[in-house]
Amino acid sequence: MWMREKVLLMKIFGYSKALYSTWLYLEPLRLLFDAGEGLNSFLEGRLLAFRNIAITHAHTDHFTGLQNIFITRLREMEVTKQPLPPIKLFYPEDSHTLRHYFDYLEKVTNRWDELVQLQPVRPGQTYPLEGVRGVYLNVLKADHYVYQQTAVCYRLDQERFSLKPELQDLPQAEINKRIANEGRDALTTRVLRPLIFYSGDGRAIGDKDSQDVPLMIHEATFLEPSPKVAHASLPEVIKLYRETNAKHLLLFHLSTRYEYKEFIQLLDKLVPEQKERSRIFVIRPGGMFAKNISVPGF
Ligand SMILES: [Zn+2]
Ligand SMILES: [Zn+2]
Repeated sequence: MWMREKVLLMKIFGYSKALYSTWLYLEPLRLLFDAGEGLNSFLEGRLLAFRNIAITHAHTDHFTGLQNIFITRLREMEVTKQPLPPIKLFYPEDSHTLRHYFDYLEKVTNRWDELVQLQPVRPGQTYPLEGVRGVYLNVLKADHYVYQQTAVCYRLDQERFSLKPELQDLPQAEINKRIANEGRDALTTRVLRPLIFYSGDGRAIGDKDSQDVPLMIHEATFLEPSPKVAHASLPEVIKLYRETNAKHLLLFHLSTRYEYKEFIQLLDKLVPEQKERSRIFVIRPGGMFAKNISVPGF
């Protein structure tokens, strides 16, 4: 039995066009995955609610939108004379490209230390998200290519509390009474369950701890698999989605070498069953994406 089993609507805003710009904002988590250009004009005032930004790698289509986020927040701080909490900015620790870019931002913003808390990361590490309780960011290695720098992907885990096995058969009223008297910690065990997997750029390699994940967000740059490219193709991602038994799939980073129609035709062919197809969403290149996707949580 799980405590606090509820369904959360995960409001996601995003934009993605391979080579040009990619960003996804998960509003309830106050988390931005990657920061391609154009996000400021779509998100406007939402930029002020950001608490976390997780960059996957140092290709410019994934980070050159950062400057506008900080300039907008800086302007707000100067107008209101009120501080905003610094954004926690996760990025691969060996990324000298990003460090050069941060040096530049430090010079042009002046108040860089108030705006940001840099968090260099490497695969295998876990960090709690800022501004939201019980959600953890896990850093995984991506199978992508960046010259002399690491590319990562991320999995979010959610902390859950399950009743200890010996208490499972008690009536709910009795459980509530004992929680009130003894405290939750005495009656429950803490476990982490996968909430969202985000691939960034890279091949469809998967992650063993993402089994049954409620939402997989995966790049699908190409229509056909090729050993020569550092990106995923649609058939490989559909295969991975099924193997992982993910509930929902959000596809992004489509290449504009294809017509969008071709992509959707192949998707419909690969996923003929209506129920399964209804759980798959696509960020159309050049269009703004905004959707509520239901995930169990909080
Ligand atoms: Zn990219
Ligand atoms: Zn890339």
